[in-house]
Amino acid sequence: MVSQCANPGCSAQFLYFGQGQVVAVPHREKPLSESTVEFFWLCGDCSSHLNLEVELNGAMHLVPRQPMRGLSTA
Ligand SMILES: [Zn+2]
Repeated sequence: MVSQCANPGCSAQFLYFGQGQVVAVPHREKPLSESTVEFFWLCGDCSSHLNLEVELNGAMHLVPRQPMRGLSTA
């Protein structure tokens, strides 16, 4: 089970569901074994500016969220 933020540069601890972003990644590399699911978690702070993306092969990436456009008056 996930216990820490997926951002390597962040040390936030997972406390409860409903905070941040949780992504479940099924592992199907060994068809004969019991399928397992790995969880990644981004804390609220990180999920506000990062997004968890998971490829079909199970590779996980942290990608920056696009900044909001159109509201800036600068
Ligand atoms: Zn974090």
